[in-house]
Amino acid sequence: MTEKFQDHQIRDRIKIEYRYTMGGQSKFFIEVMKNKKLFGTKCTKCGKIWMPPRINCSDCYEPADWVELNQAGTIQVSTIVWYTTSAFIKAVPYGIGFIKLDGAETAIFQGIFSENLVPSKIKKGKRVKAVFNKQREGKMTDFFFVPEDEYENWISKPEYEGGV
Ligand SMILES: [Zn+2]
Repeated sequence: MTEKFQDHQIRDRIKIEYRYTMGGQSKFFIEVMKNKKLFGTKCTKCGKIWMPPRINCSDCYEPADWVELNQAGTIQVSTIVWYTTSAFIKAVPYGIGFIKLDGAETAIFQGIFSENLVPSKIKKGKRVKAVFNKQREGKMTDFFFVPEDEYENWISKPEYEGGV
């Protein structure tokens, strides 16, 4: 008679400190952190403006130059997040979506916060504007978008500020 295998598990925790680089896209994160600016890139051949920035154009593979973009844009698609990882659980519920900044031809995936979060506030076609954390680390979580009509309220809060 064979005994049924039974594994023995122990719950434990691993803490790992490490560094990673943003490589060629470092300028985007440095500009967000130091200057509250949103930079995309413009293809040197076809002129397409990429946001998030691409170092080389994804259409024609030619190099792209950095260009500062407007901090307002239009929601292309969005949803409300109710389930997330531990890193964002305190923010639930919050919106996320693809936002096409004015002048850009591609859309950036980013958080969309609202003081009155209902689907109609963050639906396709709604205008949004970037708000920055006062404490920035050079990460995507340094900024988020809010409906344009809530912008002044958000930047008047002590932990946030408007862009340059
Ligand atoms: Zn191109």
